[in-house]
Amino acid sequence: MHEYAIAQAIADVAEDERRRAGASRVVSLTVELGELSGVIEDYLVAVFPLVVHGTPLEGAELLIERVAGQAWCARCQDLFNLAELLTPCPRCDGFASEIRAGDALTLASLEVE
Ligand SMILES: [Zn+2]
Repeated sequence: MHEYAIAQAIADVAEDERRRAGASRVVSLTVELGELSGVIEDYLVAVFPLVVHGTPLEGAELLIERVAGQAWCARCQDLFNLAELLTPCPRCDGFASEIRAGDALTLASLEVE
């Protein structure tokens, strides 16, 4: 259960932030989910309430913002969009030299009260 561990990690960070802010409750969390991160949004949304059950995060809404994959082609010296890993550059058919966006999952913001 890859997503369970990820939901736990998000919850840990959010709980630290809540404590630091001196807030009693987390209303919502916004997570940026990269299209290339391998994380399945539906699973993440499904396990999150289980992970935060009985914690100060219980009832918090998990909002997902998807981040498209973007890669750099060193040959063309340009960026191109990447729907999935191992998609070649549309100009030269070469493979991406570097993934520039969409390969991570990060907690973007937190609404507390
Ligand atoms: Zn290229």
